Amino acid sequence: MAASNPLDALSKPTVWHEFSPLANASNAVNLGQGFPNWDPAPFVVTSMVDSVQTPGTSTNQYCRPNCHLPLANALADEYNGRPSWSHLNVDPMTNVMSSLGCTQVMYCAFRALLQPGDEVVLLEPAFDIYGSQVVLMGGVPKFVSLKTDLTAPPTSNDVFTFDFDALEASISKKTRVLVLNTPHNPTGKMFSREELERISSIVSNYPNLVVFSDEVYEHIVFDPEGSPHISFATLPNMFERTLTMSSAGKTFSTTGWKVGWAIGPDDLIKKMTDLQQWVNFSSPSVTQDTIARCLKRAREPYEEFPTFYDWLAADYKKRRGVLEAALTSAGISPISPQGGFFICADTSRLTFPDSVYEEESLSAPSPMPRDWALARYMTHTNPKVAVIPPSPFYSPENVDQAKNYVRFAFCKTDDLLEEAQLRLATIDPTGDLEKK
Ligand code: PMP
Repeated sequence: MAASNPLDALSKPTVWHEFSPLANASNAVNLGQGFPNWDPAPFVVTSMVDSVQTPGTSTNQYCRPNCHLPLANALADEYNGRPSWSHLNVDPMTNVMSSLGCTQVMYCAFRALLQPGDEVVLLEPAFDIYGSQVVLMGGVPKFVSLKTDLTAPPTSNDVFTFDFDALEASISKKTRVLVLNTPHNPTGKMFSREELERISSIVSNYPNLVVFSDEVYEHIVFDPEGSPHISFATLPNMFERTLTMSSAGKTFSTTGWKVGWAIGPDDLIKKMTDLQQWVNFSSPSVTQDTIARCLKRAREPYEEFPTFYDWLAADYKKRRGVLEAALTSAGISPISPQGGFFICADTSRLTFPDSVYEEESLSAPSPMPRDWALARYMTHTNPKVAVIPPSPFYSPENVDQAKNYVRFAFCKTDDLLEEAQLRLATIDPTGDLEKK
């Protein structure tokens, strides 16, 4: 019998196919999908024009399969310039690889490393692309849930914590990769040094295990003193087994440009480059060249802030404040994110008609989970604010853990956040969404 194609199990609509069209059809304020709805900063746009127009450069032609050289140099400078990275001495020629967003970087990494049957440990809730990529490679995802403590102070770091025993139990000689994500989508949790140290002591027992550290929200952090962004690779002896992955999409509001990269040891970076050479040969030079310019500019003063990154974090912090206040007055308890641009909120007070569970849904699992039904009702009827149910970020056996949450994105312009605030304010104080 012919082996089945793993793609067959994945060729179906997802939550993303369902909620954006539903939001449009319902004229909802879309706080669903996580992309900024504003233009990139002027220096980002002019950097692109400069990249295309600079005479005598090769920005309009193919670049090296590893990474366009100016981007590799800019990334090496950027990481080596961070005090926590300075001892690692990132070499632009051998420690840097770029591809089409963090997504394809991760695809190349999984493809280069996994053999069928290899296990990959994912911490759920987990960005849905991880598990699907593992399945595509014939790998086996092993899910470990973050613990949820709703009695804790309402910040993402306190509410979502590690179950280290469960993590340890999930790792075996068959484990090839552990995927970390900090700041974390969808919770906004930032992994603390103590948590990362415990993870490092666990993985140290498994020489064959590689850690992928997805850090795409690294510059959107709200308490850099109390809860700083820490790269797992900077912990003692971890660089040699870690691929640090990031991208320009969230930082420069250019999600559509799909410029992503990995920083890691020579052997892992070489494997990914060898793969990319036979897939797309190289990624677009112009966008990489632009991001190389932006990385330099971002360290300079911006709008009264010492750097663009400081401005970016402050701007997002303001938006987080607006949305949190709107949610709190509507009786929806935000779990304050320490990083990223999503708020997971506790919706247990809200009620809605049972008939929603019977609605035709493009992609909901059966039976429809509560968070999914609620997200649909909030999008299409009241308050007409589109949100994302977090159950797709859980494995099928654990979707129940998502039932009391929905995810709101605050990477949205003032007018959209204000309109969302007005609509949320119409929710009846009893939390009954049927009452208007
Ligand atoms: N990782 C996480 C945690 C994300 O939230 C996203 C985008 N939503 C990505 C990776 C994808 O990044 P990119 O657009 O650079 O492929």
